[in-house]
Amino acid sequence: MNGTVYKSTGSWYTVKSEDGVFYECRIKGKFRTQGIKSTNPVAVGDQVVFELEDHGNESVGVISEILERKNYIIRKSVKLSKQTHIIASNLDQVFLLVTLNNPPTFTSFIDRFLVTAEAYDIPVVLLFNKMDTYSEGEKAEVAYLMDLYTQIGYACIPIEAKGGKNVDKVKQLMKDRTSMFSGHSGVGKSTLVNALEKGLHLKTAEISEQHLQGQHTTTFAEMYDLSFGARIIDTPGIKGFGIVDMEQDEIGDYFPEFFQLKSKCKFNNCLHLDEPKCAVKEALERDEVAWSRYRSYVQMLTGEEENYRTDNYR
Ligand code: GDP
Ligand code: ZN
Repeated sequence: MNGTVYKSTGSWYTVKSEDGVFYECRIKGKFRTQGIKSTNPVAVGDQVVFELEDHGNESVGVISEILERKNYIIRKSVKLSKQTHIIASNLDQVFLLVTLNNPPTFTSFIDRFLVTAEAYDIPVVLLFNKMDTYSEGEKAEVAYLMDLYTQIGYACIPIEAKGGKNVDKVKQLMKDRTSMFSGHSGVGKSTLVNALEKGLHLKTAEISEQHLQGQHTTTFAEMYDLSFGARIIDTPGIKGFGIVDMEQDEIGDYFPEFFQLKSKCKFNNCLHLDEPKCAVKEALERDEVAWSRYRSYVQMLTGEEENYRTDNYR
């Protein structure tokens, strides 16, 4: 039988068959792990092949194969000497909730998140939440940001999770897909999920970041079916994506608007820093590339961590 992994406890996996029946499965023997060395061979979101155990309990099965993953997100545990843990796989999209204040979401954070998503090959939709709380000036800033990110190719929706505004638009995008919600603590993830499906509470909200730092970070994700035909993956304590190992000359390729210009740079290995005849820097001077994006890029390249907010909106 074929199915999808909804939950994992480390040794048992809850698998939903194509007929919509849930089975508790174990793994047995070796199977292809697709070249990833991780602490967990099977992750939530995995498409698996499993067989029922022919003796005993009818709802117990054995996973024999994992089908190729479309994408997956990982977390590296520093404590467990950088072992890789696959948090979830086969995501159709991630919604990043953004608020200007309470809490502030800096463009440096948004850009870092987008780069990681590009590396993971997961589409991102930006949700600008708490629209009801903004002044005219802040609304203009949101409009500027939405325009900036829409032009690069990211879908943007202004929402009010609390008042329910545009929640139907989010629902439309979620239908028949597997989604995840991310963003700083306090941006409104739980409120939004509750507006999408009454009574569903995210684990994300229950674990504070301070709490998490003192823990051994074996976090188990869980998938839920929503009543309107959507799937949501909840990952406790993860506000963003794990860290992806990236080569220096790879980072620019995950800024889609830089990648588009790259072939026009004089050097084909141009890092868009001080090289002559760099198409990205030329576009930057003409204001065709946003300074905030370029600054995020340089930060990622140099490993600096500084939060900033875009300062070039009109
Ligand atoms: P989470 O940590 O991301 O899950 O954030 P919560 O859903 O707990 O929301 C944090 C706070 O923001 C709560 O007090 C919510 O009521 C509030 N909040 C969420 N969405 C909105 C919104 O659209 N407008 C306003 N004014 N408050 C909101
Ligand atoms: Zn260049």
